Amino acid sequence: MRPETTTLLLNLFSTMLDRLGPSHWWPGETPFEISVGAILTQNTNWRNVEKAIWNLKSEQLLAPERLYSIPQEQLAELIRPAGYFRIKASRLKAFLHFLRHECRFDMEQLRGRPDGQLRGMLLGVNGIGPETADSILLYALEKPSFVVDAYTRRILSRHGLVDEEIAYDALRGFFMDSLPSDVRLYNEYHALLVRVGKGWCGRKQGACHGCPLSSFQPNPGRNAG
Ligand code: SF4
Repeated sequence: MRPETTTLLLNLFSTMLDRLGPSHWWPGETPFEISVGAILTQNTNWRNVEKAIWNLKSEQLLAPERLYSIPQEQLAELIRPAGYFRIKASRLKAFLHFLRHECRFDMEQLRGRPDGQLRGMLLGVNGIGPETADSILLYALEKPSFVVDAYTRRILSRHGLVDEEIAYDALRGFFMDSLPSDVRLYNEYHALLVRVGKGWCGRKQGACHGCPLSSFQPNPGRNAG
């Protein structure tokens, strides 16, 4: 990767951070709670995830052994506010089986596995795709695995840094090949891109005027303007 790309990515980061301040992501009191949130947030907004997590907490079920022991139908009802609740209950159960099998529900033990191996293991769990796996790795297990999403792709493509059709792993590699392998940097970078995406860089059109990244020459031909 070219040094100019590293400099540019670090400039983007510091510009967002200066303007928006630290994000304090990811909400969650334990690695397990963060992982549950990463699975529940698929295709829904965070407010709905919070309601589902609150239901689990109020039943004192937000611990892997306890969640593992309840029937899937009961779990589905508890997480109903998160949407796609039957599918997500099945995914949570698959994740719980994985935790039981791999580390006897001890996520600290899981953290001790080599980083490269861990990602492959998580991707082998039914319903855990790259974005969820990387969110668990980065935010729950504090591993240097960059998380990318639709906001990342949109923002970078509108600034002419990547193609808008770039695949998930290629976009992740774009960051990881250019930036130091640093959990805190990756954590905050992803959070800031999501905040810029939600606040300014809409799907149909970017509200570039006033956006923290407006000085980085967005391309009007790519719905930035
Ligand atoms: S709104 Fe405009 S300036 Fe902001 S990230 Fe999107 S394209 Fe860039």
